[in-house]
Amino acid sequence: MSDLLRKPDWLRAKLPNGPGYMATRRNVDEHSLHTVCESAKCPNMGECWSRGTATVMILGNVCTRACTFCNIATGRPPELDLGEPARVADSIAKMNLKHVVITSVARDDLKDGGASVWAATVRAVHYKCPNTTVEILPADFRGKAEYLDIVLDAKPDIFNHNMETVERLQKPIRKTARYDRSLWVLEHAKSRDFITKSGIMLGIGEREGEIEQLLRDLRKIDVNILTIGQYLQPTKKHETLDRWVTPEEFNHWKQWALKLGFDVVESGPLVRSSYHADMQVDLFGLL
Ligand code: SF4
Ligand code: SF4
Repeated sequence: MSDLLRKPDWLRAKLPNGPGYMATRRNVDEHSLHTVCESAKCPNMGECWSRGTATVMILGNVCTRACTFCNIATGRPPELDLGEPARVADSIAKMNLKHVVITSVARDDLKDGGASVWAATVRAVHYKCPNTTVEILPADFRGKAEYLDIVLDAKPDIFNHNMETVERLQKPIRKTARYDRSLWVLEHAKSRDFITKSGIMLGIGEREGEIEQLLRDLRKIDVNILTIGQYLQPTKKHETLDRWVTPEEFNHWKQWALKLGFDVVESGPLVRSSYHADMQVDLFGLL
């Protein structure tokens, strides 16, 4: 257990610097913008910001779900902010991003799960930032196709929905989300010809055979892009860290997934869902 108290050297991130990073930094400060990169203290900020990529969150900052690994506040969200789509698009335009990842809390309190705000946001970003590619990372809309379709009709460039973990751990860790429902969300987006992407974390109690099954299930529904990263326990109250996964094991999973047929696999201790996202859209000829 004591080995788990100290982060291994491979998890120490480089300090952010460089002209590209400083330019994004100035924009963010000057316009008081909010990014997930900063609020999550993401270790990849230096790299992502210098490449012109960032992640922003919509639909507020209080989630109606309570996944045991997640540090976002849970409870009753405040009233919907209908000015958000335009404001987010303005922020992205000011940041002059090449690629933006938009994510959200789950809004099970809203009939459409926030689908209309999602669609308005994607449309506003396309309109205000025609040269910025848009990747979205929404919740599962409780498996309702009519709401997911509202979002897909706004034509994001990449559709991302994280499985987070293996099938056995969905109920204890993701609580109200479901394995089959998340697979369905990705399958539905694929049926409408979207480039699809999903992500998982390791080190939260999964076993080898279970990871293999999850990757096979994602390939069966033709998911294009996969991200695999290390689970970092935010506080003592969150899901207990099970192990530090070595860079060698991450590389093993990368090779294993590529052999299964994924187009792109990012796998490493510091990989997050949006890590190298701009390079992935580049590979698909979207930038
Ligand atoms: Fe931001 Fe995602 Fe990059 Fe982290 S990995 S800095 S959250 S874009
Ligand atoms: Fe966090 Fe997303 Fe789970 Fe909400 S649904 S608690 S934002 S991981």
